[in-house]
Amino acid sequence: MDLSQSPSEQGFRAEVRAWIEKNLPEGWGTPAFKDPRSFEERVAFSKEWEAKLAKDGWVGIHWPKEYGGRGASYMEQIIFHEEMARARAPQLFINFVGTNLAGPTIMAHGTEEQKKRYLPPILSMEEIWCQGFSEPNAGSDLANVQTRAEDKGDHFVVNGQKIWTSFAHVADWCLLLCRTDTSVAKHKGLSYLLVDMKLPGIDPRPLKQITGDAEFNEVFFTDCVVPKEYLLGEMNMGWSYANTTLSHERGPAFLGHQIRFRNVLRDLFEAAKKTERDGVPVSEHPAFRQKLAAAYAELEIMRYIGLRNITSILKHGRPGTEGSVAKLYWSHMVRRMQELALSVTGPAGALDGEDAMGRGQWQRGYLMSFAQTIAAGSTEIQKNIISERVLGMPRGEVWAPKGRSGAAGSKGSA
Ligand SMILES: Cc1cc2nc3c(=O)[nH]c(=O)nc-3n(C[C@H](O)[C@H](O)[C@H](O)COP(=O)(O)OP(=O)(O)OC[C@H]3O[C@@H](n4cnc5c(N)ncnc54)[C@H](O)[C@@H]3O)c2cc1C
Repeated sequence: MDLSQSPSEQGFRAEVRAWIEKNLPEGWGTPAFKDPRSFEERVAFSKEWEAKLAKDGWVGIHWPKEYGGRGASYMEQIIFHEEMARARAPQLFINFVGTNLAGPTIMAHGTEEQKKRYLPPILSMEEIWCQGFSEPNAGSDLANVQTRAEDKGDHFVVNGQKIWTSFAHVADWCLLLCRTDTSVAKHKGLSYLLVDMKLPGIDPRPLKQITGDAEFNEVFFTDCVVPKEYLLGEMNMGWSYANTTLSHERGPAFLGHQIRFRNVLRDLFEAAKKTERDGVPVSEHPAFRQKLAAAYAELEIMRYIGLRNITSILKHGRPGTEGSVAKLYWSHMVRRMQELALSVTGPAGALDGEDAMGRGQWQRGYLMSFAQTIAAGSTEIQKNIISERVLGMPRGEVWAPKGRSGAAGSKGSA
């Protein structure tokens, strides 16, 4: 991969930088400033900020021009994330599913009519999306989805339960994976619906997380009448379409991560200068210096893994299983980084609130780091994919207690 920047990429960088300088919301831009605390506050703020970005064409910059994007190259996407992080601007948050998962999936499998209907309001932030894949008995084993969509001619009747559905309580639309045929192999009987969250019979119930926020939900569907026109692509092709969604979820959607983590590490170095151990600043303590240096090296490794993924996408035209290597690596790297942050900052780092070191940043980051090893496919599932599909090792038997079968297909099967 050629990492030098062309004149047009340099021009793109200047354009992004100038826009951010002019539009950065008040108070943002310094290490001392942290996100508004509650989830509700962040949602309200994000809707306003992201609509502003969208108005000037900075949302879905990777989308093709014909669908309202900028058709930005991967390098330009990286530049965009770099500039957002450099300015410590608020990151895109509320329509992550819409922009990164729903958009690309509808572009790949939707009819022209569906593309015209659904894509523009995603970019303008008028419609927020959620992803209704996981269920109580179908997370890793996604082919086991039990939510039924009964075909009633011109509509479906949907019954069942989803879980861990991020943003469902604030979403307008849902990517819903459901069972439409029970007579065939599990993964062959699934269909992919685009569902209006305001339809009668949909009940999202927020779940409180360890951080105190209620970001995800249980979602109950009871005799919910879903018009046939909400079917994406063809009946019973849901497994294949879901894999398109998942390959985007683990691949390009996370391009900006290592750039944001760079700011976290920078904040950690600052915290290390301000905290003392054995009478010296932590930043001068030999044991901590080793660990801080290792954290820096790990972030560089993450950067190179990301660049290798991009090279592969450029070569093959779509994200592939390499995304699992990146996801496995960064989710555990973040766990280590956040653990180190708590050991550097000591008891003050574990606190929350105005007086806490980093105003609760370290506590929150540590607690969230657990979720990152599960969301978008757990660690074990990524390891299975890497062993079977990247390294070509034989498919392993899943141990299960006598009388119960082990999990077969998986959310990781993308
Ligand atoms: C913060 C967060 C946000 C999320 N947002 C969404 C969302 O918006 N939409 C959505 O649909 N889902 C969402 N999820 C759900 C997520 O995709 C699932 O939690 C994940 O796929 C794991 O499924 P599960 O929770 O059912 O665990 P299970 O599949 O029950 O797994 C339990 C444990 O068993 C292990 N295991 C399972 N199968 C195997 C196997 N074959 N081999 C080895 N080990 C195995 C797993 O690694 C795990 O440790 C979110 C999760 C989190 C944490």
